Amino acid sequence: SSLLERIKRIDPALNSFITVTDEQALKEADAADALRHKGEAGILSGLPLAYKDIFCTEGVRTSAGSKMLDNFIAPYNATVVEKLRHAGTVSLGKTNMDEFAMGSSNENSYYGPVKNPWNPKLVPGGSSGGSAAAVAAGLVPAALGTDTGGSIRQPAAFCGITGLKPTYGRVSRYGMIAYASSLDQAGPMARTAEDCAMLMNAMAGHDARDSTSVSRNVPDYTQGLNKPLNGLKIGLPVEYFGEGLAPEVETAVREAVRVYESLGAQVIEVSLPHTSMAIPAYYVIAPAEASANLSRYDGVRFGHRCKDPVDLEDLYKRTRAEGFGDEVKRRILIGTHTLSEGFFDAYYRKAQQIRRLIRQDFLDAFARVDVLMGPAAPTTAFELGAKADPVQMYLQDIYTIAINLAGIPGISVPAGLADNRPVGLQILGPHFGEAHLLNVAHVYQ
Ligand code: GLN
Repeated sequence: SSLLERIKRIDPALNSFITVTDEQALKEADAADALRHKGEAGILSGLPLAYKDIFCTEGVRTSAGSKMLDNFIAPYNATVVEKLRHAGTVSLGKTNMDEFAMGSSNENSYYGPVKNPWNPKLVPGGSSGGSAAAVAAGLVPAALGTDTGGSIRQPAAFCGITGLKPTYGRVSRYGMIAYASSLDQAGPMARTAEDCAMLMNAMAGHDARDSTSVSRNVPDYTQGLNKPLNGLKIGLPVEYFGEGLAPEVETAVREAVRVYESLGAQVIEVSLPHTSMAIPAYYVIAPAEASANLSRYDGVRFGHRCKDPVDLEDLYKRTRAEGFGDEVKRRILIGTHTLSEGFFDAYYRKAQQIRRLIRQDFLDAFARVDVLMGPAAPTTAFELGAKADPVQMYLQDIYTIAINLAGIPGISVPAGLADNRPVGLQILGPHFGEAHLLNVAHVYQ
């Protein structure tokens, strides 16, 4: 309840929460207490946390940051919510986000932008900016985010916290409002890799309700956190240290890499030759999937419905014109265009071929090194309103997007400050290498 007080006091200035579930939180905390008295509490029992407002939470508004779902009360819990509840965690509410997770600054939310707790003039990053800001401001010790092209790692970097995007298929997507289904993945955001590891223990695993979730043993992510790193082979992709990278970010990242060298790691230069094609391929694939996923918001079944439609066409048109914000409309237009007859081969098929090549780049690199390291984002947090041009905003994703296209895991770890703004070191590993990534991150922390 002291955190609920703190949210009331601090969050009006940050806007990191869309919904605070005070009453439910107190009930859940009581239930956790009762279990503790019976001696049945697990390690996460009583842990307060918050969910990005993209995870369905039974009986609680789940808006995806959109006017379209402003009135949507989810009738069931997402699998991760269910699992974390079962582990005894206490949800304090739902965090702000870019509408339908489209964005890199949290300025695309129907509920207004989130401020970076380090400096209210700055964005927290996006699209899981509310989760990152809430953790950074000490409103919750941990929060869940989703990452389709960087939305856990980039806001974690901008807010100076740790954020893990697991391997595609490691965590169930059931009950997570879909943006681009072949790229979306849920992950933990917290202060440290150790905290992320504890959350992963509860979150990960196969789910019969998500056909893309992988049936594979879930290791104990906390077990190997302290393994020594001597002999670790770190690859530095040349493409991640080129033009467009802010010098102060490069300095901080190279400094972090030197720390690893002092711990006995060996650093090798590698190449991911198709890096420059990642953003174009992503901005074909993600909008294509989004245009299909978002077709369900038609004013008929749930969510916003326009007033007094004269016929079905009017209902569809006005509902969608009123319910979606500009960035979402832009993506739907791009997606329907690239999927339309006559353009499919030129755009969508080409993008899928590039996706394959990008994945191969990583597989080739991991044949030579254990992990890759680089910046999580090309700059530190920028000022609100600084990137009005969508293409400038899309360039934020240059170091994060390829990871989703390849399906591999990535973690962003705080690597000091540059001009009083946090820098994120990104560490990448092969498919299902989360335990090792957490180990590498933890030893540094
Ligand atoms: N910034 C990217 C986009 O707008 C990634 C967002 C995300 O990971 N959800 O699509």
